[in-house]
Order: sequence, then C-alpha cells, then structure tokens
Amino acid sequence: MSALHDRHRAVLPDWLALYYQRPLEITHGEGRHVWDAEGRRYLDFFGGILTTMTAHALPEVTKAVAEQAGRILHTSTLYLDRPMVELAERIAALSGIPDARVFFTASGTEANDTALLLATAYRRSNQILAMRNSYHGRSFSAVGITGNREWSPTSLSPLQTLYVHGGIRTRGPYAHLDDAEFRAACVADLEDMLGQTRGGVAALIAEPVQGVGGFTAPPDGLYADFREVLREHGILWISDEVQTGWGRTGDNFWGWQAHDRAGPPDVLTFAKGLGNGMSIGGVVARAEVMNCLDAGSISTFGGSPVTMAAGNANLAYLLEHDLPGNARRVGGLLLERLRGAGAGLEVVREVRGRGLMIGIELVRPGTDEPCGEAASLVLEAAREGGLLLGKGGSRLGSVLRIAPPMTLTVAEAEEGAGILAAALHSAEAELG
Ligand code: PLP
Repeated sequence: MSALHDRHRAVLPDWLALYYQRPLEITHGEGRHVWDAEGRRYLDFFGGILTTMTAHALPEVTKAVAEQAGRILHTSTLYLDRPMVELAERIAALSGIPDARVFFTASGTEANDTALLLATAYRRSNQILAMRNSYHGRSFSAVGITGNREWSPTSLSPLQTLYVHGGIRTRGPYAHLDDAEFRAACVADLEDMLGQTRGGVAALIAEPVQGVGGFTAPPDGLYADFREVLREHGILWISDEVQTGWGRTGDNFWGWQAHDRAGPPDVLTFAKGLGNGMSIGGVVARAEVMNCLDAGSISTFGGSPVTMAAGNANLAYLLEHDLPGNARRVGGLLLERLRGAGAGLEVVREVRGRGLMIGIELVRPGTDEPCGEAASLVLEAAREGGLLLGKGGSRLGSVLRIAPPMTLTVAEAEEGAGILAAALHSAEAELG
C-alpha cells in the first residue's frame, strides 16, 4: 500500500501549503500531543493552526459533540437552536461591545467577509483600510484586504484597499523609532492616507497581533491613537481576533484590549480556537451596525448545533480552568526559555510574543535577510525531535510560530524548548 504522502500529489492542488519534505499524516491526538501514521508521538506547539485551543480530544468537548450529534447534526440558521443562542449570549457578554449581536459563520474568512459586508453597507462605501503585512483569509474580498501577498494568490478585489503602517515594525522605514515615535509616524501615515481618499472610507481592519505575518504586534495603544482619527471620520474599526481571541495573548481576553483606551472595536471577528477544531467563525457588532443589512442573510453551516455545542463546552472549559492565566504564566516561562535558546545564535534575530503566541524571527546568519530556509530546517529538525511548530512572516515563512493548546504544562514547555533549542543549533550549523 503506498503511503498517503505519495498519493496526495495526484489529487490535491500543488499550492496546498503542506509542511515538511515528507508531509506528515496525523491520525489522532490527546492533550498537547498528536500521533502520526507510523505511530510516532509529537508535542504540538501549533495546535492545528491555533485551532486546538484547549487540548486534543478534550473529553468535555468530545462528549458535547457526541451528545449533540446524537440529537441532530444540523438545522441551518433558518431555525433557532439552543446551543447557538447560548453561545451567542456567552460571546456577546465577553466581547465588551455594548448591545452586541453575534452572527456565526463557518470560517475566519467568512467572518471577515461578513464584517466587510456590514462595514460597506453601514458606510455605503467600498474603501477599506488594512495594515501592511496583514492576513485576513483567502476569499475574493479577504485577499483584497490582505497586505502580505506572499500568503495569498494575487487577485483583483471588489474592494479598494489602502495599506497603513503599524502592523509590523521589525523592518522598514520605522524600525529604528521608539514606541512613541513609531505610533506618531503611523498616525501621520493614516492621516495622510485619509487625505487621499476623498472621504468615505468604510472601515479599518487590523489584527491586534499579526498571525500569518509572523506574530508581530505594534506598541500597545496604537489602535487607540488610530481610533481617535477614525472616529473623526466616522470610520469603523474591525478587530480581526481570529488568532488573538480567547485569552491566547495571556494578558487580555481579546487582542484589542492592549489598546483599551480606544474602547471595544465596532466589529470583532473570531474563528479558529473557539470550536477546538470544529469549524466556527463569527462576527460581533453593536446592533446598529449588525442590523444594517437589509436582506435576509444566512450562512448555511454557520451556527450548526454540533459546532455550537463544541464551542459552548470548549469556552466553558477555558473559563473554568483560567486558561488565559495559564497562557500568561506558561507562555512567560516559554518565552524566557526560548530567548535563552536563541541567545548567541546568528540565525535568530528576535524572539517575541505574548502569552502562548510566540514568534522566532530567523535570518540568514551574518545578514539581516529573512530566511525561510532556516525556518524549514528548524521545522524538519524539530519534527525529528518530536515537536511540531508553525511558520509565518515573509519569504513564505521566516518566522517560527509557537501557539500550543492553552493547557500547556510547565514540563511540556520545558521539553519543547529543549527540542527547539537543539533544532535552532542544527539549523545554524547547516547554514553557517
Ligand atoms: N484572519 C486571520 C487573522 C487569520 O489568521 C486567518 C487564518 O489564518 C483568517 C482570518 C482566515 O481564517 P480561515 O482560514 O478560518 O478562513
């Protein structure tokens, strides 16, 4: 029998972003570990792609899914279902948005598409501001607001998008500025952009910490500064919390709270971790914005009772076990260990992060050039050592991304840091 990694080429697209020279076939998981088809066990430092928020095969979620599946799998948003209303109540209360309404979708892309529909309908404009180096999904319009085109098929878009500075500062003209100067330069850039638009911009969409862009965050408060300018023009602020939501960054439940002088965003989008792997996305907005669409609107699989049951059980577990607090504590320790591991290595330019969202930016030794090859070498070596990682940033991945399930223990953090340290050393030796 030929292995799956030989067969996939004949039926799957060439552009599928599979990791590893010999792609890995995962068969099952438990806690923070997954197993491959050859029976090898790996510590999962990427949690799917931040989708396994609490743990693999968490009994509470599995039971809730099985029980709901036994009753009915799907009803569609034409009817009420109890798990959907209960999850909406929970999220509305957690969102910080006054008079919040919640609409469920089946993915993050669809959530952002919905946010764009709301913003363009509310403001009667198709001009959008997005951040340089951003990623918001892969639909026709989500590609149109994605600043980092390395991660998106080049595409014409129905939207007119202007890209603002502020998402990334590790490189480029503002890299040498201190926090206050950086914020001032970004605000000046935003004002300059707005001067060129003849008014009528619908919204600014931004990830509080850029995910695919390489776990890079602006200084705290930048979006509060932006908000003041946006408010003057009546422009909505959409916070894409697809990666940053649910306390992953440790300090805050949402990424926008690092800018909380701004108050909550007008629109918040979420996905990834909520269903612990089940396909849930969604949008939260205050009623005035959410209700501005004037035609009946459904997402056939949005709000499906099985996914909602998973979301309720997963969120309840996260809150009962204070996993945001765990992300802060264990993430802090992991960051310290990884900074130690990177110290003295030429291939490591920066180790940064918050909570359990940690990025390691890699460069070609002796240069300042982002190095995707280094990241691939580290991924392969870590795999050999029994550790799975993610990648992002430029050169199709020069930043290692670390975002394990939020139940990660101290012992697992120490174990993973050890494997990663060895993998970084072996990449440095190979490139040096
Ligand atoms: N927004 C952000 C910040 C993301 O990181 C992603 C996916 O990585 C998306 C949106 C798109 O979500 P999905 O892949 O569920 O469509």
